[in-house]
Amino acid sequence: MAKHTVTLIPGDGTGPDVTRAARIVIDAVDAGIEWEVVEAGEAVIDQCGTPLPDYVLDSIRRNRVALKGPLTTPIGKGFRSVNVALRKELDLYANVRPAKSLPGVKTRYEGVDILLVRENTEDLYAGIEHMVGRDAAESIKIITRFGSSRIVRFAFELARREGRHKVAAVHKANIMKCTDGLFLDVAREIALEYPDIAFEDRIVDACCMKLVQSPGDFDVLVLPNLYGDIVSDLCAGLIGGLGVAPGANIGDQCAVFEPVHGSAPKYTGMDKVNPLATILSGVLMLKHLGEHEAAARITKAVDTVLSEGRQLTYDLGGTAKSSEMAAAIAEKL
Ligand code: NAD
Repeated sequence: MAKHTVTLIPGDGTGPDVTRAARIVIDAVDAGIEWEVVEAGEAVIDQCGTPLPDYVLDSIRRNRVALKGPLTTPIGKGFRSVNVALRKELDLYANVRPAKSLPGVKTRYEGVDILLVRENTEDLYAGIEHMVGRDAAESIKIITRFGSSRIVRFAFELARREGRHKVAAVHKANIMKCTDGLFLDVAREIALEYPDIAFEDRIVDACCMKLVQSPGDFDVLVLPNLYGDIVSDLCAGLIGGLGVAPGANIGDQCAVFEPVHGSAPKYTGMDKVNPLATILSGVLMLKHLGEHEAAARITKAVDTVLSEGRQLTYDLGGTAKSSEMAAAIAEKL
């Protein structure tokens, strides 16, 4: 019997390939998931006049949990990013992007285990920008005490739940004294409420250098929106690239799980790209739903397939299709 109804958004470009693969794997653990498939993005723009019709938001609000493929942001059609709109509409203020080394995936460093928490609703992503005459443009960076407090508190609570030891707030408060200064002040204040967890602050540029030199120094990172976007791709690079980097967008009412990567349009319909980022996003989703045993079983099956190295997609040095890698993982289950 279905225990959880989950909204499934196949997405654009390679989205349908990776979400199909995730569904094969998640269905194989029998965690009582029933999928409610709703289309968004390019598939519905002509029909609905928007890439994010109300029925998509209604489905997520009803089910409170969604697994989502990447959505293309149409260029030059007047639409803002569908992904940013979704996060704002549902107030999914915390973007959690774990970067954990995987067995058998060759990278520069072993044992990377960073939990990145990105603020998802403010900063330059507020999208308030305009031309100033013809030859200048201005974009407004919004940082609030409310937005900073809830993301920093979220990061500390997550650190506690996950048995982590240190939270680092990442900023550029030496230059942006008001906006990043506020974020940093709030982070310092909230850190005092968590004496069991160490706190430090890092300037974003120096932090990037340190991350590529000694990623083992980092535990939980909390960042405003733009730095979080950039630094999370850097962290994905530390563990094998976008093909293996999962993500979660979490709010007080709903949560949407999705890979860090985009729709990789050049591989559309080729059943080629790595489905692991979406499968591992599904693992985060199962944990969120309290299905810890199912999540652990999938993690183990993924580790086995990676260690065996026989059914890997091109980005990991193999020739398997997305569906073949998913089938190999499902077989282990
Ligand atoms: P992208 O992440 O789609 O792809 C960049 C490159 O990374 C690809 O060409 C490919 O070489 C590699 N890559 C990405 N995913 C991979 C996977 N699963 N396996 C193996 N290799 C993979 O970035 P982009 O080309 O900048 O963006 C394409 C579209 O996706 C844009 O419209 C962008 O707005 C959108 N996007 C959506 C999301 C989202 O839905 N959350 C996130 C990022 C970008």
